[in-house]
Amino acid sequence: MVDWSGGNDTGPKPRADAIWACVARMGRAEAPQYLRNRCLAEDWLAELFEEEQAAGRRVLAGFDFPFGYPAGFAKAVTGSADPFALWAWLERRIEDAPAGNNRFDLAAEINRRFGGKGPFWFNGLKRDIEGLPRRKTGYVNPFPERRAVEERAPGTFSCWQLGGTGAVGSQVLMGLPVLARLRQRFGAAAWPFERLDNWLAFVEIWPSLTVGSVPDGWIRDAWQVHEVARLVSGLAPEKLQNLLNVENPEEGWIFGVGQEDELRQIAAQPPRLSNDCFALPPGVNWTPVEDALHMLEARLHPVTGIETAGVDQATGRVLAEDVIAERSNPPLPNTAVDGYGFAGGRGPGVHRMPLVSGRAAAGDAPGQVREGAAQRVLTGAALPDGVDTVVLQEDVTLSAGEITFRGPIKPGANTRRTGEDVQQGDVALTRGTRVGPAEAALLAAIGVRQVPVHKPLRVAVVSTGAELVEAGATAADGQIFDANRPMLLEMIRRLGHQPVDMGRVGDDRAQLAQLLDQAADQADLILTSGGASAGDEDHVSALLKEAGAMTLWRIAVKPGRPLALGLWSDVPVFGLPGNPVAALTCALVFAAPAMARLAGAPWLTPQGFEVPAGFTKAKKPGRTEFLRARIRDGRAEVFLSEGSGRVSGLSWAEGFVELPHEAVEITPGTPVRYIPFGSFGL
Ligand code: AMP
Ligand code: MG
Repeated sequence: MVDWSGGNDTGPKPRADAIWACVARMGRAEAPQYLRNRCLAEDWLAELFEEEQAAGRRVLAGFDFPFGYPAGFAKAVTGSADPFALWAWLERRIEDAPAGNNRFDLAAEINRRFGGKGPFWFNGLKRDIEGLPRRKTGYVNPFPERRAVEERAPGTFSCWQLGGTGAVGSQVLMGLPVLARLRQRFGAAAWPFERLDNWLAFVEIWPSLTVGSVPDGWIRDAWQVHEVARLVSGLAPEKLQNLLNVENPEEGWIFGVGQEDELRQIAAQPPRLSNDCFALPPGVNWTPVEDALHMLEARLHPVTGIETAGVDQATGRVLAEDVIAERSNPPLPNTAVDGYGFAGGRGPGVHRMPLVSGRAAAGDAPGQVREGAAQRVLTGAALPDGVDTVVLQEDVTLSAGEITFRGPIKPGANTRRTGEDVQQGDVALTRGTRVGPAEAALLAAIGVRQVPVHKPLRVAVVSTGAELVEAGATAADGQIFDANRPMLLEMIRRLGHQPVDMGRVGDDRAQLAQLLDQAADQADLILTSGGASAGDEDHVSALLKEAGAMTLWRIAVKPGRPLALGLWSDVPVFGLPGNPVAALTCALVFAAPAMARLAGAPWLTPQGFEVPAGFTKAKKPGRTEFLRARIRDGRAEVFLSEGSGRVSGLSWAEGFVELPHEAVEITPGTPVRYIPFGSFGL
């Protein structure tokens, strides 16, 4: 997918208004490519097409500019309604170089044939060009202003406008010659003029049709080509065929226009993780915790689909888009207290005011109060016309038909302005927010009925180990109860995700593979415990390694043995250590933030704070340590044993003391970082 540009070379640093291209295969997009000028872009495309042709692959190449002009133009210019005649005509006349091109002169030359007042307008150069209006004043266009498809795609620009924000006219003039050459050279078929039987097809795209808001840190055009490429390459062949099924107008058509709903539904499917998302840089031995977290954060993205939920169903869900207030809060100015309302403030001294009959209570439609008079108003009532200030009832003396009070009182006192909390049209909640009680109130207050939310993240839990028996069953000598599964399932539930219990499996590779297959079918993420190291019975890491997409992350952390990270049938697997203490620690420190990200929420950085230590410890450098801890009398206590099999210590603790990578010497009173379990969302 290519986001084209009609301008000059944009320099070495990636910029928004340049050419951006992105290759995707089977629903997976590669990194977007910055192409600073059209010569480079044409070479890059030709090279790509050569490689793909040599490899025997089919290519659908999308370009974000019209392949044709409004009806009648091709014939008027070339004598033939064949759009390719116009492509060739332009190809012979356009002169292009990174530093500049003749598009304004050619547009003017065309205009002069039709009287010199249109169809093209806008001149990006300093010098005037005869026949090319700079503005639309005095503009005369002998052709339709827009193509039929553009009438159906609000927000598209007319191809006659050669410049200004969003304009597309220059892209067409500077794009069609390139397409003409590439079509000739590779025998490409251009949609919808030709049947797409060839291995290479050119299709007109319009990214704004499907791509929503741009994530932080992305250049808009780069994000758009990335998303459209991912979407189109992930389409099932029948779906793609359907979407390409349009009439054959000489003007061309935009892919997906007329089929927006279907396209949006498909676009809402989440992207898959890339195959190398868990790869470590070469030569890495022990990865510090902070680096491991940064790598995970950078490589993971939301994987859950998006659906619409009524506000009453949205709690516990993660917002997939920013929510715009449909109504201001408060919707009308109202009174914050019980009292008497009138217009304007009053200076110091005693004021006497006639009282009009009746009262304004919450829920009443605003009435009217004449100038100089006051009316009784009750908390929450919309202010009547003629009222902008309220005096507290406690400050008023009431007598027959009038009130008396002492000033000064400021204009607007004791009232709430329209939208002083949230204005209609404001972003009230940002995407990624999990809807809790407070957000439910806000959504209700701003009149929102439905919100796009992520589907819940389904997290499968698998315990591995020949020694394990089910909790509550009878254990023989040598056997132990499976403690990790109930622990992890409850953790997942508390973090707001959907636990999927996959049961246990012994140290048997075939059975484990089968269970992972089932888990990959039912879940978006798999947590295993046990068997994650590199020993004889460590089948989780062995299997993932066989599957070709696993990395053992030796993270410099205690407690915790290597964390096996991999993909099983495209589903990420976190292979946690078997010891319950290490399993929960690794799950909270590494899996919980990853789960938040996969679920569509921001990366989770648990908030800790410094407290004086209530213990003594000398820690060696080279790894981060998480001690089971709790706060008593303002000091952090730690569990007497650091043994990672001590399940009772997990229950004793209410959080972690996190000791840094470096060496530390701790005596009672030394400040240490304490992270309550609640900070992880437990
Ligand atoms: P592994 O990581 O498989 O070498 O296991 C490390 C230790 O954790 C061993 O002592 C296992 O018996 C224990 N362990 C493994 N899985 C569980 C589990 N689900 N519940 C309790 N202990 C376990
Ligand atoms: Mg084991």
